[in-house]
Amino acid sequence: MTRPARVIVNISAVKANLQVVRRCAPHTRVMAIIKADGYGHGIARIAGALEHQADAFGVASLDEALALRKAGIARSIVLLEGPFTANEVGEIAASGLETVVHTHDQVGPLSDARANIALWIKIDSGMHRLGFSPPEVGAVVRQLRGRHRTIRFMTHLASAHRENDASVAEQLQSFGSAVAAYGGERSIANSAAVLAWPACHAHWVRPGLMLYGVSPFHGRCGVEYGLQPAMTVASSLISVRDVAAGGSVGYGKAYICPEAMRVGVVAFGYGDGYPRQAATGTPINVAGVRTQVVGEASMDMLTVDLRPIPEAAVGDPVILWGPELPVEEVAISAQTIPYELLCRVRMRARYLECV
Ligand SMILES: *Cc1c(COP(=O)(O)O)cnc(C)c1O
Repeated sequence: MTRPARVIVNISAVKANLQVVRRCAPHTRVMAIIKADGYGHGIARIAGALEHQADAFGVASLDEALALRKAGIARSIVLLEGPFTANEVGEIAASGLETVVHTHDQVGPLSDARANIALWIKIDSGMHRLGFSPPEVGAVVRQLRGRHRTIRFMTHLASAHRENDASVAEQLQSFGSAVAAYGGERSIANSAAVLAWPACHAHWVRPGLMLYGVSPFHGRCGVEYGLQPAMTVASSLISVRDVAAGGSVGYGKAYICPEAMRVGVVAFGYGDGYPRQAATGTPINVAGVRTQVVGEASMDMLTVDLRPIPEAAVGDPVILWGPELPVEEVAISAQTIPYELLCRVRMRARYLECV
């Protein structure tokens, strides 16, 4: 018998979510962000689904980009962190990739490149992670302009997911003045800015999380924005047992039964990417009924409270998150963000698709 743990990816939800991006930002182009294996959904699968809807794809590394080319994706692909070493530049050119340039170490090899590579100069407008500071931009543009005909500008927002955060306007202002002297398209917005900061839409938006139907805003769910969750993580009950009042469940006696109760064992654990911090109280759906995880997740299994489902039996379906149980809620219980939960399930999951 096959282990029942599985991830179901709803392809038409991903396509519909891209249409939500288009409705939010009707006058811009869309670089669909599919790094980290398409946020755990499968990078080639998501690129295939969006190939005719997205204007470009954003990935984190040359490996990811080459995997897409190998899968037959002909669309523009942008390396969001640029080349990691000078010897990647030749392959970037040969595969017709576009690249971000965010540090002086990349400027030399790119300005020496014989081929014309479309570049995205990244500006640090206040997040202080990647990019050139505004006073450096002039020199970088001069070094790169001769060789590369297409030069675009981008920046990344630190706090677009926070309501009314003053830093968004500050970053917008800093970026705007840093690039004011140059032509060329601009890109600022991640999902949160697509949804909440129309002033940041510019020429290109770069949505990631919202494509997968998930909200970047704490305490909100994707459905509130017309998004459809694309990922369902599912498994089954593999054991049902009665535990006496005061009996403990799982490692470290992390849960003590307050009364005689039925406990179910689900074939899914941290080895499948379930968050180990998702302790007692984390919502989980068993046979269509919402209940809670009890005790600590182990590597291949977790234990659930079956008091709300007295008729529960081995083989009953379990949903860890999906349309009927938002990953945003599970993330709050696990003291993390939905981004992390989506990315982690790819470890050893068996994927299925539906349309
Ligand atoms: C990951 C990433 C995005 C997408 O962010 P979401 O919050 O998932 O929409 C956009 N731009 C850059 C540079 C990124 O690295």
